[in-house]
Amino acid sequence: MKILVPVKRVVDYNVKVRVKSDGTGVDIANVKMSMNPFDEIAVEEAVRLKEKGAATEIIAVSCGVTPCQETLRTAMAIGADRAILVETTEELQPLAVAKLLKALVDKEQPGLVILGKQAIDDDCNQTGQMLAALADLPQATFASKVEVADGCAKVTREVDGGLETISISLPAIVTTDLRLNEPRYVTLPNIMKAKKKPLELLKPVDLGVDVTPRLKTLKVSEPPKRGAGVKVPDAATLVAKLKNEAKVI
Ligand code: AMP
Repeated sequence: MKILVPVKRVVDYNVKVRVKSDGTGVDIANVKMSMNPFDEIAVEEAVRLKEKGAATEIIAVSCGVTPCQETLRTAMAIGADRAILVETTEELQPLAVAKLLKALVDKEQPGLVILGKQAIDDDCNQTGQMLAALADLPQATFASKVEVADGCAKVTREVDGGLETISISLPAIVTTDLRLNEPRYVTLPNIMKAKKKPLELLKPVDLGVDVTPRLKTLKVSEPPKRGAGVKVPDAATLVAKLKNEAKVI
């Protein structure tokens, strides 16, 4: 079974991004970029499934600018066998990415696609669900445990009320939640090995996909500054304030 793992190059989670002065977006010039943390978890899960004998090949995919190749090399250093970059300088929105991934699903016929539940730059939480709809495949989102056996995936999902375990038939789409696993450290020998693994370059037109953005960002602004706190003399005053001023209880 092949596993396809889409990995997005995003601003590193340690970077505090600044809104551009003209309000058109955030300034990402000269900031550190890394693999989306949920996608690292997805690659790790795919590697664990391969180590258990449930998968035979892991293909990492990224859609975006040329430097996404670095993200793909990281995925291969964790353990992906090969990589595909769908190269474009166009701003990619989740629907466009889902369409590109659908075309790759048709081409590669993976038994499982493991995506992150969301990208930490746009926080969309849409691509996996859109891909499942476009490819007409079962989906299990927000996975905290994945077991593959007998043509099915048993997935424990993190839902509002606790945990939900479902069984879906393969091929299927899974999106990762934070507690699924802790990705391994990438070792230097594996970074060296990853440099020799195959990386295929495609363009959206090669997959017959129009990636023109459908949504227009009108304005991006900083969240309002938090006001100073106050000290309350006792619990009764705190409760009164929560009830009458904050109106949260
Ligand atoms: P989003 O719907 O944008 O929050 O992204 C959810 C997941 O879709 C990510 O964690 C990735 O696994 C995948 N994804 C989104 N954008 C891309 C991209 N440009 N290239 C590869 N994978 C992506």
